[in-house]
Amino acid sequence: MALEFAYRQPVKIYFGAGKFARLGEILDELGLRRCVLVCGRHFAPTAQQMQQQDGRIVAIFSEVEQNPQLSGVEETTRLCRTLQADAVIGVGGGSAIDTAKFAAAIALEDGEPIAYYRGERPFPAKRLSIIAVPTTAGTGSEVTQVSVISHVAEKRTINDPAFMPSVAIVDPELSRSVPPRTTMNTGLDALAHALEGYWSKNHQPISDLMAVEAVRLVMENLETAYTDGDNLQARANMAYAALLGGMSFALPKTAGCHACSYPLSEDYHLPHGEACAFTLDSFVRINADERLELLCRRAGLSGTEELAQRIGALKELAGLRRRLSELGEVDLDKLARDCAAHGLMANNPVPMDAAALRAMFAQLA
Ligand code: NAD
Repeated sequence: MALEFAYRQPVKIYFGAGKFARLGEILDELGLRRCVLVCGRHFAPTAQQMQQQDGRIVAIFSEVEQNPQLSGVEETTRLCRTLQADAVIGVGGGSAIDTAKFAAAIALEDGEPIAYYRGERPFPAKRLSIIAVPTTAGTGSEVTQVSVISHVAEKRTINDPAFMPSVAIVDPELSRSVPPRTTMNTGLDALAHALEGYWSKNHQPISDLMAVEAVRLVMENLETAYTDGDNLQARANMAYAALLGGMSFALPKTAGCHACSYPLSEDYHLPHGEACAFTLDSFVRINADERLELLCRRAGLSGTEELAQRIGALKELAGLRRRLSELGEVDLDKLARDCAAHGLMANNPVPMDAAALRAMFAQLA
């Protein structure tokens, strides 16, 4: 097959322990003077200190929850519009960064956030600057044009150039305080991004290279980051793996495992990373082919079966849910139908209809 691809990665990335301290210089470089900082509660005290020291942080929204709601976007947008902000700084896991991205994208217009959420208004070409500062090592949201926002029970993934961060500051020091279980959930999310970008029907060579390295880094560092959260080397390698994982799927998009993660999050309330991990080893076995064997060998594994077994072992180590019986009462037919109907399922290299998915989930009963 002839080599052919279009590759683009527009985010300026600063990576390294202590790099978050350079935020002030980065704001200077970009000429930014009025920033709204968005974060989760864990970061609220630090955000308040930052605001006292730097007048350019004009407001803080620190109420971001897991599976972030549109209401958080509404409040952040209101702050941006009233205070005439020129940038939004998202500090946190994917939930805070995605909230920041959505608000920055719409703040220069006066439309209601719900209208953009429902696709009734297009995202404008002009938007506020977005500074993305991940504090978990998982989503890669700092380098994607994706924002995942929930409204009531619906969780929607919106893909638009308006969401692409201007700058990513990846400082592994910030992930030291992530609790072990979240470390495992987010680390397996990074692994799922790398694998899904690699086996997506839209995979391409540069993204493939990053996927291989991300898989190698996760396999060599996730267990240490989980058991010894203060190990900065493991934290740094996981932060790098998450960044590479984000770039691995940013263009090819994800596939079957992510398609299944949506019903698992929406109906059975699994956090995003755990929802991806739930079927990741199953999809490794389903999607196993020569290309995936090659990735495994390049990532230092003997092959796909070792990869699947090690994913299972990591889930067991952290006590993540692995069986449908742990999710309460599950309607197997509905789960299989909903997963099959998700748009990302079409990217899976092996066609998976509701019957095939039902058979996969039956093995996880
Ligand atoms: P999260 O942002 O929901 O954070 C999980 C929990 O960890 C929260 O309670 C948060 O406050 C806490 N936390 C974060 N950093 C911490 C730290 N340093 N110390 C202590 N606690 C900390 O989790 P996540 O997995 O990073 O993000 C998940 C969200 O991102 C989901 O909504 C998912 O759908 C979305 N997502 C987005 C993309 C994208 O490209 N935009 C990709 C994958 C997933």
